[in-house]
Amino acid sequence: MKAIDSKKIWLSSPHMGGNEQMYVKQAFDSNWVAPLGPNVNGFEDDIATYLENESYVAALSSGTAALHLGLQLLGVTHGDEVLCQSFTFAASANPITYLGAKPVFIDSEESTWNICPEQLEVAIKDRLKNGVKPKAIIAVHLYGMPYKVQEIHDIAAAYEIPVLEDSAEALGSSFFDVKCGTFGDLAILSFNGNKIITTSGGGALVAKKQEIKDKAIFLSTQARDNAPHYQHSEIGYNYRMSNIVAGIGRGQMEVLDKHIGLRRRNYEFYYTHLNQLAGISFVEEPNGYYSNRWLTTIKTSSYEVREEIRLALAAQNIESRPLWKPMHKQPVFSDCKSYVNGVSESLFEKGLCLPSGSNLEEEDLQKIVFVIKNIVQ
Ligand SMILES: *Cc1c(COP(=O)(O)O)cnc(C)c1O
Repeated sequence: MKAIDSKKIWLSSPHMGGNEQMYVKQAFDSNWVAPLGPNVNGFEDDIATYLENESYVAALSSGTAALHLGLQLLGVTHGDEVLCQSFTFAASANPITYLGAKPVFIDSEESTWNICPEQLEVAIKDRLKNGVKPKAIIAVHLYGMPYKVQEIHDIAAAYEIPVLEDSAEALGSSFFDVKCGTFGDLAILSFNGNKIITTSGGGALVAKKQEIKDKAIFLSTQARDNAPHYQHSEIGYNYRMSNIVAGIGRGQMEVLDKHIGLRRRNYEFYYTHLNQLAGISFVEEPNGYYSNRWLTTIKTSSYEVREEIRLALAAQNIESRPLWKPMHKQPVFSDCKSYVNGVSESLFEKGLCLPSGSNLEEEDLQKIVFVIKNIVQ
């Protein structure tokens, strides 16, 4: 088939609301061109207000930086083990190694595709039997779908292991009306270019107490002691968000819920047109779960069908992407322990992320559905 037209349809591209440049202009006009200023504080307040539930937000340079600081604030250090959802983006796991700690990967369950409570408990018991108490759990709301919040946090509480909640893909998702990003002892958000909102690049750490937020900001700004000269008693980082970038974030927060509505519309459209096709299935929201539908994902009947769909879309200049390759299958983590049940490997084999931007047009969605139907029917 020849390409219908050359306009590229992206998986998830930035979608500005309109006021972003006004906030950036204010930063220029007042000369706050620095990793601090009114937009940074304003953006933090906007997110805290949005999340509710006593959230204290530190705006940082990336979600990865937030994970790094979050693990450090939970006391993770050299030689520790951290239990981490295997089915995720490498950025969830990489910061464990920055601290000299070791990731132990936990497979997913079928209903949310996120960390499996049974495997988690098996892993904790096995690690304890071997004389190691895991220092933290990293649970991820992948593609915007909340993980099994109740079960995971019950297990974490029973074994007294803190949870670092990776909400990078789930700003605006909720579990029984409580927003994702507020369940963990600490949580992280990402505002990278393809996320539900973007600041071009950026992230945040969400804490439950003002003093933890203050400590995160201290560490993110080179850990300067209170002195007129530069004095340091701890190792710090340069991880603070800039006031320019935060201005984009302020504009994006104004349109967040509208954009979630549009992403959910994408999901509904795909679901309506594709769910009845043989071998195609979707992750549906269990009762009480609300997904921002950051990306709409489908599971096909086989690797071959998945590839056929992906290549047919690519031939029409439409970007799609296999699901995350599980961390326990990544060459870089080949020597790490893992507790697996086959779920994430099967998802990686058969699954595909479809274009999901809040800026997609109805005709884009129609074109995508048309290409997929041509193959599956
Ligand atoms: C994007 C992402 C991150 C990292 O965020 P950055 O802002 O890109 O550093 C971490 N975890 C998950 C699940 C992500 O999707």
